[in-house]
Amino acid sequence: MLLVEDEPRMAAALVRGLGSEGFVVEHVSDGLAGLEAARFGDHDLVVLDIMLPRLSGYEVVRTLRAEGNWVPVLILSAKDGEYDEADGLDCGADDYLTKPFSFVVLVARLRALLRRDPVPRPVALTVGGLVIDPGAQRVTADGAEVVLSATEFRLLEALARAHPAVRSKERLLDSVWGPGADANIVEVYVGYLRRKLGRNRVVTLRGRGYRLAP
Ligand code: CA
Repeated sequence: MLLVEDEPRMAAALVRGLGSEGFVVEHVSDGLAGLEAARFGDHDLVVLDIMLPRLSGYEVVRTLRAEGNWVPVLILSAKDGEYDEADGLDCGADDYLTKPFSFVVLVARLRALLRRDPVPRPVALTVGGLVIDPGAQRVTADGAEVVLSATEFRLLEALARAHPAVRSKERLLDSVWGPGADANIVEVYVGYLRRKLGRNRVVTLRGRGYRLAP
């Protein structure tokens, strides 16, 4: 396994502890070295700190996923850090632990990741000039990357999966926001998508719902 951690005492403790649990640990201490090691090291598992010199753990895992590398990644992050759990999992990590964590819990989570069947990763959806990659959480419009919030991404993904069919407001509400959400939120977020992707990408069919333009 690969450990990417810049804090020397934490890294030393993890290398020692995980080693005694039978893991063969390669340790690097910055994000760029971590990315290179994950790309070429053939690791079965990556444990990744978030706040790292040169490249954040968040960027490391995003880059790996964008390149089609699905090595299981567990993210370690300091409490009240710059990123929260949702960010960690949104960027494509498989699991997340907040420091300080219990070593026993870490080992249990790592073993669970190793036992897990390889999940079939989602392939990118293409509609018109849009390419929506659920694995990497990335969207490009006519080749240019567009940054969406997690909710905007889920709405766009729902519309893309339905394409070329129309999705009713109720169904979008249910699949993106869940029960109890206010129906007006759909319109609000369709507005956000239009602003970021271009006015004509999302078509309104009065009384029926929305669909993506072909
Ligand atoms: Ca750090």
